[in-house]
Amino acid sequence: MGQKKRIAIIPGDGIGKEVIPQAVNVIAASRAEVETAQFDWGADRYLADGVTVPPDGFAMLERDFDAILLGAFGDPRVRTNIHAKEILLGMRFQMDLYANVRPVRLLDATICPLKGIAPKDIDFVVIRENTEGVYTDAGGVFKQGTPDEIAVQEDINTRKGVERIIRYAFEYCGRHTKGDGSRRSRVLMCDKSNAMTHAGGLWQRVFKEVAGENPQIKAEHMYVDALCMQMVRDPRQFDVIVTNNMFGDIITDLAAGLQGGLGMAASGNIHPGKTSMFEPVHGSAPPIAGKNIANPLGAILTAAMMLAHLGLTTEADKIEAAVLEAVRQKKTTQDVGGSLGTREAGDWVAKRIGQG
Ligand code: ATP
Repeated sequence: MGQKKRIAIIPGDGIGKEVIPQAVNVIAASRAEVETAQFDWGADRYLADGVTVPPDGFAMLERDFDAILLGAFGDPRVRTNIHAKEILLGMRFQMDLYANVRPVRLLDATICPLKGIAPKDIDFVVIRENTEGVYTDAGGVFKQGTPDEIAVQEDINTRKGVERIIRYAFEYCGRHTKGDGSRRSRVLMCDKSNAMTHAGGLWQRVFKEVAGENPQIKAEHMYVDALCMQMVRDPRQFDVIVTNNMFGDIITDLAAGLQGGLGMAASGNIHPGKTSMFEPVHGSAPPIAGKNIANPLGAILTAAMMLAHLGLTTEADKIEAAVLEAVRQKKTTQDVGGSLGTREAGDWVAKRIGQG
């Protein structure tokens, strides 16, 4: 028997504190050989003692854990959102988790807002650059509060950063299959290089270069505005999409809509070979927090994605199969057509795995 994988659990704020315990129960039900440790990083801790990330926090995660399962950050009591920025963006930037991988899979036709779409029609992956772009918050404000105020928000794109995310997308094709077992074989780069010529030009040049080294994979391109329209008109055409930090953020909310809403979407923040972090795509959702109505399936699918990343594929497959059945049988929260609460929906999936 191999050594148990160690997982750091950070539920965070709002609905993160409701959905992550469900994901943890489901991991236990899958009998995955893991050890977990819980951390209280988030708004409550920050309001109590002013700490966002404890000293040595990120180094400790890298040293002592194989993966991190994280909920969400954001609390109306912390207006500046400083804790969210320091924990979430801090983790992505300082642990250099450069590939934000967001699978987009429709589990059942009834939860898709589009007409005439079957589950096999929506099965693609968005790979978002996670450490650069406008999220570096470079720039500044000049003459603030005057009629002459100037705000500059820099879009940082490095050759190294662009090249590694594009290479990751091509390599992802070689390592992953679609739900129907077929190979992933196309990478589409999404940018706005017709308007943002400097950064877009770099992405274009690097994409052509890396595509040239991978002739077995079809290379495609779309401007981000066209991509948004095409995602709604014909999502069948997509396989692997690679894009920058901000476009990735935006198009994955649209993509989440296609798969039944934010409550269904999973993601990984990955640096190959290093401790990586997994989180549902949704945020802390203050309006629905504490009501036992948040959909736990996005967090549960995130746990499955994490286990697969750690090599625990049998357990990951069991979890995915149980989630699929929950959606088909409407043993879910209301946002995807069921009538269960967060805890009851999580319990159903855990029980189903136990029966499998
Ligand atoms: P962030 O900027 O942190 O991503 P946000 O404010 O953009 O957060 P969310 O917190 O993700 O958005 O949620 C927006 C809305 O989507 C919620 O108020 C809720 O209506 C819905 N939503 C998000 N997650 C879930 C979920 N797990 N279950 C049900 N509804 C959800």
